[in-house]
Amino acid sequence: MEEVAKRKAKAEEKPQKPSIYSLEMHDLENWLVEHGDKKFRAKQIFDWLYVKRVTDFDDMSNLSKGLREQLKDKFALTTLKTVVQQTSGDGTMKFLFELHDGYTIETVLMRHEYGNSVCVTTQVGCRIGCTFCASTLGGLKRNLEAGEIVAQVVKVQKALDEQGERVSSVVIMGIGEPFDNYDEMMRFLKTINSDDGLNIGARHITVSTSGIIPKIYKFADEKMQINFAISLHAPNNDIRSRLMPINRAYKLPDLMEAIKYYTDKTGRRISFEYGLFGGVNDQVEHAEELADLIKDVKCHVNLIPVNYVPERDYVRTPREQIFAFERTLKKRGVNVTIRREQGHDIDAACGQLRAKERKEETR
Ligand code: SF4
Repeated sequence: MEEVAKRKAKAEEKPQKPSIYSLEMHDLENWLVEHGDKKFRAKQIFDWLYVKRVTDFDDMSNLSKGLREQLKDKFALTTLKTVVQQTSGDGTMKFLFELHDGYTIETVLMRHEYGNSVCVTTQVGCRIGCTFCASTLGGLKRNLEAGEIVAQVVKVQKALDEQGERVSSVVIMGIGEPFDNYDEMMRFLKTINSDDGLNIGARHITVSTSGIIPKIYKFADEKMQINFAISLHAPNNDIRSRLMPINRAYKLPDLMEAIKYYTDKTGRRISFEYGLFGGVNDQVEHAEELADLIKDVKCHVNLIPVNYVPERDYVRTPREQIFAFERTLKKRGVNVTIRREQGHDIDAACGQLRAKERKEETR
């Protein structure tokens, strides 16, 4: 109980100092010049943050004591505390991090043949209200600062450092709707993509949205070479509105138009995430309808057999049905894969770990 009270008190505190991870190189250069220091120090600081990955300003030994004190005074460096760390038999690692104000967020490390991929969270909770999602159950508490998103990747990289491995890709598919926290998400993207930052190539970064249409147009105009995914989950308006209330505000035909704009503008292929929900959207006729819907879009479909979410009623699609759905799409010439399930023996579905923790807190 004492712990719960402590977290509640922390949650009421105002954010203290901004995270230094929220600064892009040019921001840090400007700050240094404004504070009477040399621009080139920014590169040194980035090296400490992203290459040596120190957790204390005092370890930045090639900076003067005065500058270290100024940095300490102005910025926070260690912004996340590991509350829970679970490792699955297949190597998937799931982290529950506590933020400075006591809220908790999830980050997942997935192991693939092609490397280590980190799935980051962009908001504390989410207000989108997808009916299959545990992350939205408590609503949106607050947006994450860019530095709090960057810090997730740094923390996971530090865990991998112990095994001599590196984060090779990042997916923005954790808790939250990234386009509902657009500016911080963009700042995050630029920092992890920067040669001086974590240096993760644009083609190794994926952002996924539930379909906030105005932001899709904006994102298309950024012309970043990163991978873009849409959580589609339905072949028609009715089913989509049932699964994802956002579809009532941003309807499927308008979403498809925005997607067309994106693919025309960037020349890039798009990914459609399609969760299979037993008896809801997983029949062969749904696959046919989906093939019709996307026939003119340069795309790939990722079928996701959903995990059972205790708080929700959806059930898993039987194996044979999953393959029948895939076969139907393939026959129609759709580029499709079934997502390999990872972390089955831990709380792998988005938001489950945090939901469990929250339940325990409120007991
Ligand atoms: S699936 Fe994503 S967008 Fe939908 S409620 Fe969950 S976190 Fe939000």
